Amino acid sequence: MGEINNQSSIENLVIIGSGPAGYTAAIYAARANLQPLLITGFEKGGIPGGQLMTTTFVENFPGFPDGVMGPDLMDLMKSQAIRWGTKLIEEDVELVNLTKKPFSINVKNLTIKAHSLIIATGASANKLHLPNEQKFWSKGISACAICDGATPQFREEELAVIGGGDSACEEAVYLTKYGSHVHLLVRSNQLRASASMIDRVLKNPQITIHWQTEVVDVDGKDWLTNLQIKKTDTNVSQVIKVKGLFYAIGHTPNTQIFQEQLDTDETGYLITKPGRPETSKEGIFAAGDVTDKEWRQGITAAASGCKAALAAERWLSKNNLSKLLKRSSPEPSAAEPLENIETSNEENFVPSASWHKGSYALRKLYHESNIPLLVIYTSPNCGPCHVLKPQIKRVLSELEGKAKAIEIDIEAEQAIAKQAGVNGTPTTQLFLSKALVKEWKGVKQRNEFKNAILELI
Ligand SMILES: Cc1cc2nc3c(=O)[nH]c(=O)nc-3n(C[C@H](O)[C@H](O)[C@H](O)COP(=O)(O)OP(=O)(O)OC[C@H]3O[C@@H](n4cnc5c(N)ncnc54)[C@H](O)[C@@H]3O)c2cc1C
Repeated sequence: MGEINNQSSIENLVIIGSGPAGYTAAIYAARANLQPLLITGFEKGGIPGGQLMTTTFVENFPGFPDGVMGPDLMDLMKSQAIRWGTKLIEEDVELVNLTKKPFSINVKNLTIKAHSLIIATGASANKLHLPNEQKFWSKGISACAICDGATPQFREEELAVIGGGDSACEEAVYLTKYGSHVHLLVRSNQLRASASMIDRVLKNPQITIHWQTEVVDVDGKDWLTNLQIKKTDTNVSQVIKVKGLFYAIGHTPNTQIFQEQLDTDETGYLITKPGRPETSKEGIFAAGDVTDKEWRQGITAAASGCKAALAAERWLSKNNLSKLLKRSSPEPSAAEPLENIETSNEENFVPSASWHKGSYALRKLYHESNIPLLVIYTSPNCGPCHVLKPQIKRVLSELEGKAKAIEIDIEAEQAIAKQAGVNGTPTTQLFLSKALVKEWKGVKQRNEFKNAILELI
């Protein structure tokens, strides 16, 4: 990761968003020696890495004949962007001022000035805003079947998916791996998915489709048990007993911070010149799902990121604004390989390591260690887990051995996850001398973990 220029200097190009559009734009701009600064996002408009972090196999991205896991694909793009000199800030952009040049972009405690901007903020999953939705969020309700489907509470239980598009169908099929039966709740009387996906749903005896159905509310005690549904054609209400409800009801473009400064359509998508990345303001370009409500694919987002970077490069050069990086050698050093940590056992357990994996290490450190321990529950296909792990690794390295982490894959170690009451991934628990001190669900800022550990040492 490169150094961020001090606040008085002006960046050539700032890219907002770290999905396929943002990272592709970064790769092109970095290879053009523009040293782009990419603001990844954190929680406002989806997680770093974007929507593909929430899926399993991507089977249609060229170059991967056997498919590639969404989070792995995004890790590869990130590593390619960094290799060529992209600088990263892992924060959300909170405010922009595009009324005068250079543009200003505010992230927490920092104002960044830039000559040009590529907006690649994608789109976010919609919620239903049911009366009891918040109460059962992460206690039965999830917006990511791929992240949470493997949790013990869903095993061999009836589950429901709401939606009628590709995501809903994919999630329904995926959940049949874990649940005893899946109810697919579709508002209209047809599915809006690809023909092959529809086929898979219709042929799956473990899926029941409820046509013309909407969810009115959810109910339960500590965990979701009931869905109140209503047939929209007959107005007849019904209760279905399920332990999980997964939302797959579309997306809203992440353009709130640009409203009134750039032209958008009536649903909030950024308007660009037809077939081109230029927005309504000179020097500002848009790429990916934030400007595309029709195609919305990894490859189309990546392609538009490429166009936006080339257009930004030409615009900067025409206006004599680019400060180019001088490389000491034409080829940067090789990218860091993706990490794959082995599960510990009696033979390979290294007591001094700060990161461990599996129940052997957990038992050993839980009983024998007197320093703070973070236990991180993950599942193999959970994109947010890919985001969280490097955050925690950085904290551990900053703490220089004063704390350790053990990763538990809840799919491989179901009994442990159940015993720990884990109902979604990632979940992180902080222990000191066998006592649970704190628990976090989802991805949190590094400082939250660090401060909690520092209070114990
Ligand atoms: C479940 C699922 C499965 C899919 N499967 C496939 C598939 O198999 N093949 C395929 O081609 N496509 C698939 N897609 C579609 C694909 O994921 C999207 O088309 C693609 O990710 C869009 O890329 P993007 O870069 O435009 O935006 P996104 O991937 O949405 O990324 C947006 C980025 O912007 C960041 N951001 C948002 N707001 C801010 C802010 N205020 N400040 C800073 N950053 C911000 C977010 O954190 C994120 O990093 C799937 C999508 C889903 C949801």
